[in-house]
Amino acid sequence: MFRKLIDSPWPYFVLAGVLLVAAVLSQFRPVSNEPPAGEVADLALLRERDDLNVLFIVIDTLRADRLHAYGYERETTPNLDALAARGVRFAHVESQSSWTKASMASLWTGMYPTRTGVWRFSHAMPQEAMMPAEIFQEAGFRTAGVWRNGWIANNFGFDQGFDLYIRPSKHRAVGNVQRNNPSVYRLPGTDADATESAMEFLVESGDDRFFLYVHYMDVHQYLYADSSPIWGTSFSDIYDSALHWTDRNVGLLVGALEHQGLLDDTLIVIASDHGEAFFEHGEEGHARNLYREVQEVPLIVVPPFSLSPGVVVQERVANVDIWPTILDIVGLSPIPGAEGQSLVPLVMASGAAGTPVPSEFRERALYAELDRNWGRDTDETNQIVALVKGDYRYIHHLRRPERPELYDRSVDPKEKKNVAAVEGEVGNELRALIDEFLAKPRTQWDEAPEIELDEMKKAQLRALGYVVPSERRKARQKKK
Ligand SMILES: [Zn+2]
Repeated sequence: MFRKLIDSPWPYFVLAGVLLVAAVLSQFRPVSNEPPAGEVADLALLRERDDLNVLFIVIDTLRADRLHAYGYERETTPNLDALAARGVRFAHVESQSSWTKASMASLWTGMYPTRTGVWRFSHAMPQEAMMPAEIFQEAGFRTAGVWRNGWIANNFGFDQGFDLYIRPSKHRAVGNVQRNNPSVYRLPGTDADATESAMEFLVESGDDRFFLYVHYMDVHQYLYADSSPIWGTSFSDIYDSALHWTDRNVGLLVGALEHQGLLDDTLIVIASDHGEAFFEHGEEGHARNLYREVQEVPLIVVPPFSLSPGVVVQERVANVDIWPTILDIVGLSPIPGAEGQSLVPLVMASGAAGTPVPSEFRERALYAELDRNWGRDTDETNQIVALVKGDYRYIHHLRRPERPELYDRSVDPKEKKNVAAVEGEVGNELRALIDEFLAKPRTQWDEAPEIELDEMKKAQLRALGYVVPSERRKARQKKK
């Protein structure tokens, strides 16, 4: 049997909060009310405020091109679209790996996987790492994280700086929730449980400044809320229905902020750790390669005022930029050693007509990494590095450097045609950048600590669809 779920440590199950959830659940309306109007230049004034909160929402496994706001024809995301319409939408964002733990370690620290050292199933965030929640906690914010993905559990060190870091209890079924991916472990509960726990935190926080992190999981789980999927029954269609359901949860949470009069006191940021493949490069799922479908994620920053029109940033940015940017906006100290940079100057330029984009944001070299052996019980690595710069994606396989992949997205946006053999000069230039990138000192800490996972934990992670060695297989290998 699966381990008993961790119960919410809050003894007070706020009745008002539950009623609020019930009231809003019955409506599922897109976000309608907005905070007062503002200008993009007002972003620079937020650091002066002593009442600003931060709500950080991560939607696991969300590829950017499935959001209607990112050009998808299906109306998968009415609530996220409404937030993007009055906020800042980054049109091109590269995640730093294609599986949760490596990607989130980079996202939180602003450092690439090579520098965090967190890229194997057994690695944990080092205690020496400075996590944003620690910075908020130090600055007097109440900090809470609500998550449903085992890769970012407390034992992997992702709880640093959180007063409260919980997997929500399964409270109740919502409508006719369906799970349609038989290959995926049936994670107990739904994202509605995370929404409800987050709402309880909001009710209970009162006037205290808070940093609230909510990590949604139902897109990863292909879970949707109606009696039948909205658009069709293929995995790809059901993924869209799951996104529509998760989008409703975002709407509920933003509705709760509104209900408490917190919309004009809260900076909302929506991000994802990686995308999802539907056989574009021969594989389904994620955590196996570094092509666009698993690498390109959304990023929406919503100020506590309404921009009209919202700002769209076209320059390519990365998840390592997220925390340098948020901490800059809020006026807190930066993360030591972060390799990403604050995007505030880029947002200002993008939001002011006729202002040129600062040169440091043009054609930046952005990286992603994956040790393809991350789930195996071996010391051998099988590392690949992707570099995106301008129109190109270059993929370097450390085990076979003589056979790189190079895609020119200006003519091949789906990255189908490897032009490494014909574009030698571009390839050499990008390869030199990768060599330089890999040669930088590894981390500020020696190594990411490794933790022992018990068989139950491994079974859960395996069941999530990941390869994690089993004792039985290890025993079999020993016999050979
Ligand atoms: Zn993930």
